Amino acid sequence: MSLFCALVTVIKRIDKIKRNFLWRSIDGKKKMVKIRWNVICNPKVKGGAGVVNLGVKNKALLAKWSWRFAVEKEVLWRKVILAKYGSNVQCWRFKTTCPKNMYSIWKGIVVNSMDAAVSRCVGEDSFYWKIGNGKTALFWWDKWCGDRPLKWIYPRLFRIAKSKDCTIAEMVSLLGSGNTNWNEYFTRPLLEREVGLSKELAERVIGIDLNLSREDRLCWVKDKEWVFSVKKCTELLMLEDGEINNFDFGILWNIKVPPRVHSFLWILVIDRLPTKEFLVKRGVCFQKFSLNCPWCEGVPECTSHLFFQCKFIDGFWGRIFKWWAEVWKPVEGFSDFFVLCNNVCMNAFRKRLWLIAIAVACWTIWLARNGMIFDKKRVYMENLVFL
Ligand SMILES: [Zn+2]
Repeated sequence: MSLFCALVTVIKRIDKIKRNFLWRSIDGKKKMVKIRWNVICNPKVKGGAGVVNLGVKNKALLAKWSWRFAVEKEVLWRKVILAKYGSNVQCWRFKTTCPKNMYSIWKGIVVNSMDAAVSRCVGEDSFYWKIGNGKTALFWWDKWCGDRPLKWIYPRLFRIAKSKDCTIAEMVSLLGSGNTNWNEYFTRPLLEREVGLSKELAERVIGIDLNLSREDRLCWVKDKEWVFSVKKCTELLMLEDGEINNFDFGILWNIKVPPRVHSFLWILVIDRLPTKEFLVKRGVCFQKFSLNCPWCEGVPECTSHLFFQCKFIDGFWGRIFKWWAEVWKPVEGFSDFFVLCNNVCMNAFRKRLWLIAIAVACWTIWLARNGMIFDKKRVYMENLVFL
């Protein structure tokens, strides 16, 4: 997976086995699909279950070779690739032209790096140079000051520059000496409007403080550690075509409750609990059974009514909040509810306990609802609060 480009058919077969494991019951019959596969494959902090998406993982693993090529300067495999296919203008980037003539394994890596989503993760724009001695980063081509390479900031000057591939150290030694005879740097005398630009450029160069004891360092801008990681790259690739859910799932997964309650809360947030309304939408026929809320029997059972809007449950939350000396306000759905619970003023330890209590209360409502529907157990407020 980290070296070979996996065949689409192989990935589909493996994904099918994983989906069947999830959606088929013990007797082999297919169970109802409640959550789409690409949602399940999303990272946990982005609203998924964190199941590995093999196609995306394969892309991220292959993308790592772009990073390794850039930072592992002395390794043998890199020297072989350089000797055989050469590099880009920037010697830290491998050549991507004519991949057809390349050896199949390397071709897979090169073609993968040209994929639109992958190139947004490991393309030229994803890297930034922190300048040390200035001997590696290229003055015009690399991104080292500002958010773009200088060739894009001063395209007119770049077009007429004599030395387009010079390093920062070379440019500093030329301009840093105070020599502003522009004819030495450009192929023709500067026009009036170009003189101002060149002065601006010279000021940038004079302001560079080279550190001769340290090499230039390549940084991956997509991660706060500045180092490429397959995990982060996979996450970014997943978000390319995934659904964006603004809910802060990180807090939810950090609540100290058993895995079963975590899964329940996750399903509650993404609104995939098998309530009666949810099941009817998926074609389940209830025949003589009531579709209404088990608490009030007044309106059809949906997640927001069952957990938050029903009069009976409103009373339940009122008692729980009062117990913790907090003020309960009616909410529309789980997102509002979680914001209300998360915005309470408490010290860290008490808040951890508070969030556990809230998670357990939601789980209790669901258990009581199931007991009432499947086992005909009557639910009283006192039982529910102290369940
Ligand atoms: Zn109700």
